[in-house]
Amino acid sequence: MPIRSRRPFRPSPRPLRPPAPPAAGPEPPAAAPPTFAELGLAPELVQATTEMGFERATPIQARAIPVALAGRDLVGQAQTGSGKTAAFGLPILERLEVPGPPTQALILCPTRELTVQVAEEVGRLASHRAVGVLSIFGGDSMRRQLTGLHQHPQIIVATPGRLLDHLQRRSLSLGEVRFAVLDEADRMLDMGFAPDVERILRQTPPSRQTMLFSATMPEWVRRLASRYMRDPETVSVTGHTELVPTVRQWYIECSWADKVEALTRLLDSPAVRVGLIFTETKRNADLLHSVLLTRGYDVTVLHGDLSQRDRDAALERFRSSTVRFLIATNVAARGLDIEDISHVINYDVPATPEEYVHRVGRTARAGREGVALTLITPIEILKLRDIERHTNTRVERHTTGELDELVGAGVGAA
Ligand code: AMP
Repeated sequence: MPIRSRRPFRPSPRPLRPPAPPAAGPEPPAAAPPTFAELGLAPELVQATTEMGFERATPIQARAIPVALAGRDLVGQAQTGSGKTAAFGLPILERLEVPGPPTQALILCPTRELTVQVAEEVGRLASHRAVGVLSIFGGDSMRRQLTGLHQHPQIIVATPGRLLDHLQRRSLSLGEVRFAVLDEADRMLDMGFAPDVERILRQTPPSRQTMLFSATMPEWVRRLASRYMRDPETVSVTGHTELVPTVRQWYIECSWADKVEALTRLLDSPAVRVGLIFTETKRNADLLHSVLLTRGYDVTVLHGDLSQRDRDAALERFRSSTVRFLIATNVAARGLDIEDISHVINYDVPATPEEYVHRVGRTARAGREGVALTLITPIEILKLRDIERHTNTRVERHTTGELDELVGAGVGAA
């Protein structure tokens, strides 16, 4: 492999640009959160929240309840513990027809525990309304569920598998559903419920209001929102480590030996219009640079051992689209603010979650879509799990065997 001679180290005459200031959090500055009466809920619902010890709305409630009361579809990015159950439960109770037909609201949950918990919470919120709430989940007595269904409850909280059993037996129909909630949608995906959820949604009237809650936004969840929801309003309260929501994140599992091959397959795709490629070390940046140059790619390199002049020149060539690809180390890319980077590629996994967030934040700027691809060897997978935990997101797994398919699908580009 031809290796370009490294330039002699010359201390830079002025320091690299300082890091970009931390991005503002997604929440507006905290004024006093509204009370439930201020959110316009009926007195008997306000009374129930008071009896449950709720004094003021949580952030997800303050932002989701007005949207849901207006009848709009909603994507809520929030975790368990944020108060999301009341965020969808209260608007449903407010707008439910009482007395009215059975199964006006359908709440799908990934696990039996969550199903029971949500049914209990909604039941408490409904304590001053004559509304029936029934939980339906696998492993529970079919008889209890059938008896419950005979009471024509307006709200059904269910796991997808057992709900489908009831639909097949015709013990339940979804023809009157006006509100559908997908709670913890990302976990439903993890549990293998994706096809069941879609099958169920297709049996509900298209005129329904749909609310989707998910702590992370994997590809399937986004697709669900675009296929089954009408112009949903997104409400996100996941805190400041949240990644830009328009970034798709994939990782590609490959061996060390396959990394260059995998990378070049991706770079060959015209969908990778402008790519910023990160390496952990200056040496790797130089090595990769010479490999890509010999293979004929339009690429330049940026790292701290280069002179200021060479760094400026590299940046200028990238910024002015003279080259399509820039290889950079973390430090060199600090504060790099180029609006139109379609893909960030982590040739090496960053050492820390903060570094990952910083790298990924170089794409999807100014509301554009972006893709973050990380090449991962099996031993690096723990670093990725750490990143996922800290950033509260999920990075979708792919293998080198899927590269053709990924390239065919535009490497995630919109
Ligand atoms: P959830 O995220 O829906 O699982 O709710 C987490 C916990 O917070 C539950 O025990 C709720 O009863 C409680 N909770 C929900 N909303 C509020 C509120 N506005 N004030 C105080 N506690 C709340």
